Formats: sequence, structure tokens, C-alpha cells
Amino acid sequence: MAANRPPQGLYESSGEPFWPSFRVGFLRSLSVAPDEVDLEDSEFLRRHAGYQLMLVVMMAILAAVICEIPSDLGGSLTLMIVACIVEIGVLVSAAWAFLRGTFLTPPVIPLLATLVVLMWSLASGNAHHYYWLFPLLVAISVLLPTSVGLLVGVVLALSLLAMRAVGLSQWPIGNDLVLLVTMMALLEVMRLMNRQSGKLADLAFKDPLTGAYNRRCLMPQVQRSLTDFERHRRMSTLLLLDIDHFKSINDYHGHAAGDRVLQSVVKQISERLSKVDMLFRLDGEEFVILLGGVANRAAAEIAQDLSITIKTLNVLPDREVTVSIGVCDVSQVRSTIDWLEQVDSAMYRAKQLGRDRVEVVRLSTAINSGELADTAGWR
Ligand code: GH3
Ligand code: MG
Ligand code: MG
Repeated sequence: MAANRPPQGLYESSGEPFWPSFRVGFLRSLSVAPDEVDLEDSEFLRRHAGYQLMLVVMMAILAAVICEIPSDLGGSLTLMIVACIVEIGVLVSAAWAFLRGTFLTPPVIPLLATLVVLMWSLASGNAHHYYWLFPLLVAISVLLPTSVGLLVGVVLALSLLAMRAVGLSQWPIGNDLVLLVTMMALLEVMRLMNRQSGKLADLAFKDPLTGAYNRRCLMPQVQRSLTDFERHRRMSTLLLLDIDHFKSINDYHGHAAGDRVLQSVVKQISERLSKVDMLFRLDGEEFVILLGGVANRAAAEIAQDLSITIKTLNVLPDREVTVSIGVCDVSQVRSTIDWLEQVDSAMYRAKQLGRDRVEVVRLSTAINSGELADTAGWR
């Protein structure tokens, strides 16, 4: 089909990109994929559920403590009231941020503040408040990383021991043991669950052969970059990279060698991307790279550097692996599908002009292989 395409002047002449119709269907199907996943949304939902639990537990504990502040505290009554007021401040600011869809404080601050107030209440004679430690420890185990949770567990054990030593514990030592064992069990369950959900996330979001993000994650990220540009003028660029004559690599060297090439290419690209960039395997030997914070020119240099790196990979004994790359920054596009179509079109132009090259949308001069070798830079 590529043979039917006009040889050059793809954009300048008609303004309409030209590429095989099956590609249009394929790319458009990406924008309506019913099973697409937004990586940032799933992280947001996880944190949202944790914060909800934290706020409910904090509110309940604070209410219980305030309702029963002992009147015979003497000089420390003022200190207790001040601690409760500070805790109310922490709770209100965390709740305010939560209602606005953000997470103001790291959860360790409000959780520790609540723990301090509760321990104080226990030390002041409210022994029945001991049971509030259980929901608080559930929130701590769910919200904090296991290592921080363990640290809190150690601090709690030492505090309980200290209270016992100075005679402030009005409960049997067995209670302390049950509490600490419950906390350790919760931390272990959470550690296993986090490991499991990490594996499930990899299965859902990543391509099993190469470890690149799969196409289900692509459109939400592309949409996010477009929105970022429209709202904050934050630049980003898409690269569409297709390995040249990959079918013949499979044919001459076998499917396993083809797989090795795909893995090496992804490894090389991943090592060279910065934290704000993302790599997706679109299909077969095609990859999309979303570069954050760069426009066409810098992205073209990065693309050029990538193609040189891949060419010098030496995965196959008797031949170089070359790639054709299309480049299109967000300032040139009207919608996500338009962006994909433009960059796809540029990649096809690179194929048509002989492969092993980088083509930039709407840049009149094509960037030939090697031309930018001296200027390719990595962030
Ligand atoms: P062009 O330079 O025009 O891109 O040609 P090409 O041979 O790279 O492209 P074509 O679309 O003709 O062939 C792509 C091949 O990629 C066909 C398919 O068998 C192979 N392929 C797709 N997925 C995999 C995979 O996971 N592993 C391996 N080894 N091959 C794959
Ligand atoms: Mg190919
Ligand atoms: Mg292809």
C-alpha cells in the first residue's frame, strides 16, 4: 500500500496526510479502545481510597479523645487542648485538600499526630481508648510504606513499654502483645498485597515481551499531554518508531532472534529516556515514545540519537538494525487522533524516503541519518 503514496511534499501540497487506509482504522481504534487504562488515574484512585480511610479514622479518634479529656489533668490540660487544636488543624487541612482532589500532606504526618494524641489520652487515664489503636494501626499499615509502618511499630512498642515502666498502663500486657502482633500481621499482608498488585499492574499495563507500556495506556497519556499544552503551554512530542525490514529479520534469523531485537531496542530506548518520557509498544515492531518538555527540533535530535544507538546495537551478527522515526510535537495538532495520524504519516514518509531516517512533521527539511549526529543530546 505504501507504494501508492505520493513520493514527497506530503504535507506542503495538500495539507492532508496520506497513508494507507488500514492505518487510519487502526489508529482511530486506539482512541475508542474500551479497555484503555489511565496510569495516573489508577494511582489516584488507590491513594483516594487510602486517604478516605485515614480521614474517617482520624475524625473518630479525635472526637473520642476530645469528648473525654480528663478534667483533672492539672497543668498538662492546656497542653492537651493545644495538641487537640493542632490535630484538628492537620485534619481540616488534609480533609480540605482531599475534597479538592489533592493530597496535601504525606499521610505519615496526620497519622503520627493522631497516634500522639491518642497515646496522650491513654496516658491520661482513658484506658478504654486503647481499642482506637486498632483502626489507627489498620490505617497506618494501609497507607504507609512497609518500612515506615515497621518504624511506627517499633516506636509504638517502645512507647507502650515506657508507659508500663512508669506505671501508666491500666491494661494487661497481653493487650500490648495482641496489638503489636496484629500490626505485624497487617504489615505483612499489605506487603504481599502491594507486591501482588505491582505484578498485576505490570500484567495490565506492560507488554510482556519488552516491558514497555502497552497500547492500552497510550491514549490517556497522549490526551493528558494535549490538555497540558492547551492549559499550560507545556510542550511534548510524539515519536513513532518502526523497525525497518523486521519481517526479514524474522525470516532469516528466526522469531527468537526477532524477539531479542525487540527487547534490545526497548532496553536501549528505556535507558536513554528521562523520567518524564514514556515508551509504549504500539504493535509488533512499532513503538510510540512520548517525550515531555521538548518540541520538534530537540525531539528530532533525540530521535536521531536513538536511531544511531540502535544501529550500533550489534544484536544480529551480520546486519544492522535500523529504524524509521516520525516526529510531531503537540503544537501542530488539533486532537489526540490527529496527533497520532500526523506522527504516523511522518513515519511513513521516512519509510518512503528510504528508511533509516527521521522525519519531522511540517519541517520542510528532512533530517537525514547522520546529519544531527554531533548535536544529539540527552536530558
Ligand atoms: P517495514 O520496513 O516496512 O516496516 O517492513 P517490516 O518488515 O518491518 O514490516 P512488516 O509489517 O511487513 O512486518 C512486521 C513483522 O513483525 C511481521 C510480524 O511477524 C513481526 N512481528 C510482530 N510482532 C512480533 C513479535 O512479537 N516478535 C517477533 N519476532 N516478530 C513480530
Ligand atoms: Mg517495520
Ligand atoms: Mg510496522
